[in-house]
Amino acid sequence: MSTVAEIFQTMEYGPAPESDKEVLSWLGKHERVFGHYIGGAWTEPGQLFDVMNPATSKVIARVTNGTKADVDAAVAAARAALPEWKGLAPHARARFLYALARGVQKHSRLLAVLESMDNGKSIRETRDIDIPLVARHFYHHAGWAQLLDSEFAGYEAIGVVGQIIPWNFPLLMLAWKIAPALAAGNTIILKPAEFTPLTALCFAEIAHEAGIPAGVINIVNGHGETGAAIVEHADVDKIAFTGSTEVGRIIRKATAGSGKKLSLELGGKSPFIVYEDADLDSVVEGVVDAIWFNQGQVCCAGSRLLVQEGVAERLVAKLRARMEKLRVGSPLDKAVDMGAIVAPVQLERIRGLVQQGVSEGATMWQPSWACPTEGCFYPPTLFTDVQPSSTIAQVEIFGPVLVTMTFRTPEESVALANNTPYGLAASIWTESINLALDIAPKIKAGVVWVNSTNLFDAAAGFGGYRESGFGREGGREGMWEYVKRAHGRRAPKSAERAGVAGAAVHQASATPAAASAPSSAGLPPIDRTPKLFIGGKQARPDQGYTRRIVSPSGVVVGESPEGNRKDIRNAVEAAHAAAKSWARATGHNRGQILYYIAENLSTRAREFATRIDEMTGCGARRAKQEVDVSISRLFTYAAWADKYDGAVHSVPIRGVAIAMNEPVGVIGVACPDEHPLLGLISLAAPAMATGNATVVIPSQSFPLAATDFYSVLETSDVPAGVINIVTGDKDALVKVLAEHDGVEAVWYFGARDGVRATELASASNMKRTWATWHERDWLDADDGEGREFLRAATQVKNIWVPYGE
Ligand code: NDP
Repeated sequence: MSTVAEIFQTMEYGPAPESDKEVLSWLGKHERVFGHYIGGAWTEPGQLFDVMNPATSKVIARVTNGTKADVDAAVAAARAALPEWKGLAPHARARFLYALARGVQKHSRLLAVLESMDNGKSIRETRDIDIPLVARHFYHHAGWAQLLDSEFAGYEAIGVVGQIIPWNFPLLMLAWKIAPALAAGNTIILKPAEFTPLTALCFAEIAHEAGIPAGVINIVNGHGETGAAIVEHADVDKIAFTGSTEVGRIIRKATAGSGKKLSLELGGKSPFIVYEDADLDSVVEGVVDAIWFNQGQVCCAGSRLLVQEGVAERLVAKLRARMEKLRVGSPLDKAVDMGAIVAPVQLERIRGLVQQGVSEGATMWQPSWACPTEGCFYPPTLFTDVQPSSTIAQVEIFGPVLVTMTFRTPEESVALANNTPYGLAASIWTESINLALDIAPKIKAGVVWVNSTNLFDAAAGFGGYRESGFGREGGREGMWEYVKRAHGRRAPKSAERAGVAGAAVHQASATPAAASAPSSAGLPPIDRTPKLFIGGKQARPDQGYTRRIVSPSGVVVGESPEGNRKDIRNAVEAAHAAAKSWARATGHNRGQILYYIAENLSTRAREFATRIDEMTGCGARRAKQEVDVSISRLFTYAAWADKYDGAVHSVPIRGVAIAMNEPVGVIGVACPDEHPLLGLISLAAPAMATGNATVVIPSQSFPLAATDFYSVLETSDVPAGVINIVTGDKDALVKVLAEHDGVEAVWYFGARDGVRATELASASNMKRTWATWHERDWLDADDGEGREFLRAATQVKNIWVPYGE
């Protein structure tokens, strides 16, 4: 025992252990063996797997591995509970969510200790961060439940939702998933990660106590196969997943064409950018939070430290000094900074990647002290002399390992920051608010923290760009993931081309049309062979083949070019060249151009109506209506162009979280076959209004309204490349778009097979898809325009800006 005088001399920390008594008694109550929680009751334990405390390597419980039959039972329970839960008055659901928040708060110490023992994270974090945020999520979403009818009018719950979560924030990820789903009126099957199922099971008990109706929340434990059974279950309406990009890609493919709504929160390699005017002492504390919080097992960890050259040496020296003072040890010790890595396999993975970094020539540095040898511990690690292309600079290490690189100018910092397939988060450190707010929009990431890092709140959306996934969790933007439109959905069409008067005959042909319809004067018509529209110019197709367009009555109306892979590639290139400056154009400017298109279209309204009637045989009245609605639709998006505002979220910091709607980038659009003009305008206009560049594949059967539209675009000041049009075989062309790494999103309106193929191909770079085979009334303003379209064309970036001295 040290004396007080000695302690004053050494200033050593003594042990400050948190008691595990309550947890041991809770585990004992269950005899340390757990079944699943299905239909409001515990199932009998089945085949068991061990749950280990990674800090001690001791088995603390055994949990049932979910079978397909277990998943079936859970889905059936959720389905049975759905009508009543969904039918509850918003206030009633708000009361239940409120009860969950209170339950979590009442049991917060038990949950915090259990989480530490199950996961290895420090009690300081579970007690002060994880569990309070869990409660906050339920409170916040009790609010959305209360406001659902007014704030999400016209929308309803999606149905039965499958949720699969990882091990790094076990209870917090549960809350992020369950709270919005329940608030919107969905019922749930949740699978915790196999390493960390215990707090979810404890939560099931809390939910039971709170009186959540049987079947509304079902917890099924298990491995990856159990997760796969949920993903593949035919009676699940939506999948929400957090985990690795690799598994996210598997899930994207497995759900392709199923009609299941999908949100994915995947990996990251987030930049932590330090400019030379930054307060370096704050930066050091920021880095500690960015990469050593939760042992670096954080999807948005600031794992790439990018430092402006002039201050790099000073910062690295300060960091090393700080690292010497970090304390790694028992997660239940209240004075410990870092706990244990979740499992031996993760520890091995970290060791392997660090070894690879060393063998690729980077300089590795670790503090002089040693980690405990019992359990899965790994010291904070710093790499310098790192090449941007090296493995450790590109691969998510998911451990306490920081790689450092330097840059000279702000432009270089942006290039380096975006040099990753991921796009989850970024931190920007500078005393210049001008610089910070200039850089934030340039970083491709869903969350940007200014002079701060790893800030989360239920009121602010969280989620990625690019291969970090899509969809948001938290805030109003997160609620959209759990609702669908309550009307305007009709039975699936039997065939894609149904709904338009008669089916047109069309075939690709290498020879010119044999005979075109003679004009009323009996003279042969003047040949009009359209081209493609790429980069603001009418471009000859690569192959020179054309497709004959024949009306329902068998008259050849004209020809359209048969675009191919190469034409699409050229169009994507043109779109890319235009995307940046179009995104920067003001909303007013974009709106003016949309008005100009409407004006030029209206002067040729009669001609377009005639063309539509000729192709589709819909009749003069319907054709005129289509043109009129097209003009009105252009007005709608001209109006929206400067009004699709973001938000300032009320987060509990002294500062603001600015939620900005950013364009997705280059969007590939496969238009519906029906309404050849209106379908194209309904999709291209919202994309344009929000600052995207598009590559559009118009109606395959009736493309001539689109080819006639080129000259409208040419006379309307549309910058070259903002809209590109490639006619031809829709499914073949959209496949090229969906597989193209330079395309950020693909929209597909057509047959179910096409939806499936599009969603499958999109997994290559995890691009966003909006693919549907459901019939839509394009003439109806409720169904054919509005926020649904604007949301698909944008992604939300949350920029956290603390203020004050
Ligand atoms: P996974 O992505 O494998 O696991 C996440 C969840 O998905 C777990 O519940 C897992 O079950 C489940 N799962 C696994 N395979 C399937 C499948 N085919 N279908 C449905 N569900 C499935 O992450 P890991 O735990 O294996 O970690 C590996 C790496 O992933 C880490 O090193 C890290 O790089 C990254 N990762 C990223 C996270 C993030 O938040 N972005 C979180 C966790 C990991 P089970 O636990 O039984 O495997």
